Amino acid sequence: MLRLIRIFGILLFGVFLIMMCTSETVLHPDFTITDKMLNEYIKEFPHPDITEKILANPKEFLESIKAVIALPPEFLFLVDKQHSLGEAYEPEDLENLQHYSIKTTKKSLTLRSVILDDLTTMIDAAKKENIDLVIASAYRSYTYQAQVYGYWVKQLGEEQADRESAKPGHSQHQLGTTLDFYPIDDSFAQTDESEWLLMHASDYGFSLSYPEGYEDVTGYKYEPWHYRYVGKETTQMIDSYFMGIQQFFLEFYSGYADFFKTHLKEKT
Ligand SMILES: [Zn+2]
Repeated sequence: MLRLIRIFGILLFGVFLIMMCTSETVLHPDFTITDKMLNEYIKEFPHPDITEKILANPKEFLESIKAVIALPPEFLFLVDKQHSLGEAYEPEDLENLQHYSIKTTKKSLTLRSVILDDLTTMIDAAKKENIDLVIASAYRSYTYQAQVYGYWVKQLGEEQADRESAKPGHSQHQLGTTLDFYPIDDSFAQTDESEWLLMHASDYGFSLSYPEGYEDVTGYKYEPWHYRYVGKETTQMIDSYFMGIQQFFLEFYSGYADFFKTHLKEKT
């Protein structure tokens, strides 16, 4: 009997220890976040399958988000039907693509220089597999977006125009990190280029913004030609925790980045 009580006591102590460890220990040496804090904080995110994935691998997730936090914040701005960059947003490091070994359909196309290394590396890698990536659209200023949107409203009416084009300030193209491959139409989905990008773009930090079947999430019908650079650290995170859907990640990050940043320990 005494032995039984002792065994029971040891078991109880063990359970207590496990509970202490899982709820109060910090999850990652570079953050002051405990399991309990993380649970409490992200439970409101409206995609339980995503929060479950994060909570199943919290240490790996924090390692990943630490790398994402270190990226230029504009790479991760949420720009969609609800969130505008504003009229004044214009990147300072736009470069004409003519100066690089990048095929384009127009001479005037520009993108941020900070992404051009990864872009040219991706295009060269594709070329080695006989995949010819041509860029048909890149940075679009606020003023240009206003002209394009005005044109579509005239042609299609406002409701349909909103599905085809973004209201000025609401286009990812204003970031200078977003591009469209040629041809910009539904036939692109059937090309080898599209297939190659679906397989490999994320290895170079490029992410498909408006995937097939997610119009209710992104606000846009499938755009197989439209890719946004978010950095390799981010594409890895999107694939591992966010079901490959950029919009889910950007919504999460815009809501929770401050929590992770505030609890990141200062480097000494
Ligand atoms: Zn586009």
